[in-house]
Amino acid sequence: MNNMLMDPYGRVISSLRVSITQRCNLNCIYCHEEGEESNPKREVSLDTIVKTVTMATEFGVKKVKFSGGEPLMRNDFEDIIRALPDLKDISATTNGVLLSKRAASLAQSGLDRVNISLPSLNKENYGKITGSPHSLSKVLDGIDAAIDAGLAPIKLNMVLLKGINEFEIDDAINFADRYNGNVILQLIELMNFKNVSQYMVDIDSLEKTLESRATFIKERQMHRRKKYFIDGVEVELVRPIDNSSFCANCNRLRLTSTGKLKPCLMRNDNLIEIKDEATPDEIREMIKDAAKIREPYYKNNLKQIMCKI
Ligand code: SAM
Repeated sequence: MNNMLMDPYGRVISSLRVSITQRCNLNCIYCHEEGEESNPKREVSLDTIVKTVTMATEFGVKKVKFSGGEPLMRNDFEDIIRALPDLKDISATTNGVLLSKRAASLAQSGLDRVNISLPSLNKENYGKITGSPHSLSKVLDGIDAAIDAGLAPIKLNMVLLKGINEFEIDDAINFADRYNGNVILQLIELMNFKNVSQYMVDIDSLEKTLESRATFIKERQMHRRKKYFIDGVEVELVRPIDNSSFCANCNRLRLTSTGKLKPCLMRNDNLIEIKDEATPDEIREMIKDAAKIREPYYKNNLKQIMCKI
């Protein structure tokens, strides 16, 4: 595609991650809040979201993921999805608490699939992590509703926490196994956003354990992500930290819940504000500007990045 967006490091932008609110009904101890600074003064409007996604598709963006906060806190989430242009993949990452009542309407509106955060299947641990032990049963209902609505494959996001859920991986694999291939387990390395370094798990040693247990391993070149097939379940290990391959292959531009283009999860000093009154032409130029200032956060492997250009 001629008009694709390439940053100065040769990375093509093909996906957009849109945070639609900072409001959330859980209070996870580690939440990175999509790297946003708190600013509850403005919540990005449906119109700005749709105009931005539409302009991004002109540059070949085909994938949009919604996040937050908790995206289902917005009552107009279905309206937002319905108003989007034609895309290859529309997904959302949700804590699942409100999903049982909304999965069908979200699927009818055009949502293709969901990632559901499920850091523990144990009520006490779930409560320690999220501050809301009683929400666990609602999330489990939400997973069933998402399957019924066809929002599959569902990825269960489990951020690993030393001393809390590190020994629950087998439970999570057994749980995923019940869904006959419709559920993928994503084990996520904790990023230290809220002074939570005491919970960091030794990911190298976990990787070795997964390797020894897997009947089959696949490595996604993008992001150096490995998929392990264990007891018939697909288990993906997400290692964002100090992972220069992760940065080198980052194809994502972000729109924040306050309506700013954000070129990198890890930075807030290079945001570009899209005012509600911005015209489509202005937004097109802002997207180009955001692409121009994109740079990998972890640059210790710059040579590798430059070789790909
Ligand atoms: N409320 C939604 C949810 O719980 O999925 C969406 C927002 S949440 C910020 C999006 C994703 O980021 C979730 O899958 C969550 O597990 C992940 N996440 C949040 N904080 C993280 C951290 N410190 N390290 C790694 N992943 C994190």
